[in-house]
Amino acid sequence: MKSLDIAIAGAGPGGLAAALFLSRAGHRVRLVERFDRPQPVGSGLMLQPTGLAALQALGLYPAMRQLGAPIDRLVGTDAKSGRTVLEVGYGPLGARPLYLGAKVEQSVRRPFSGP
Ligand SMILES: Cc1cc2nc3c(=O)[nH]c(=O)nc-3n(C[C@H](O)[C@H](O)[C@H](O)COP(=O)(O)OP(=O)(O)OC[C@H]3O[C@@H](n4cnc5c(N)ncnc54)[C@H](O)[C@@H]3O)c2cc1C
Repeated sequence: MKSLDIAIAGAGPGGLAAALFLSRAGHRVRLVERFDRPQPVGSGLMLQPTGLAALQALGLYPAMRQLGAPIDRLVGTDAKSGRTVLEVGYGPLGARPLYLGAKVEQSVRRPFSGP
């Protein structure tokens, strides 16, 4: 396949993953971002199954796994009534935990060292 010069605007999850996939496929990739440097956003991050699948395909799942904890089930209740307003289980989707709660601050300060 012919190697292409590819520009990607934005170092969000989509741009970063695309840059890695494309550069590993032999293309010359330039990633441009409008912010100066990544900053902690001060919140946790839950990675959905599709995001984890992308990390797995990039060989980054083991490194990500070190930064978080598996979440098998999410339950939300109304603070006043106690009524359940959210209940999502991930067990039926597969044996591997499909969500990770990762500290964004930690992940930004300790960038992944992928293969
Ligand atoms: C408050 C909040 C909480 C969230 N929590 C979660 C969560 O827990 N789990 C989860 O999976 N998702 C979460 N999301 C959603 C998640 O952030 C988005 O799905 C994801 O960031 C989309 O990635 P992206 O790469 O498409 O875009 P973005 O992350 O928006 O990245 C786009 C990048 O492009 C840059 N950019 C834009 N214009 C230009 C330009 N002209 N030149 C150069 N750079 C440019 C921007 O600065 C940005 O860095 C959350 C979103 C919000 C708002």
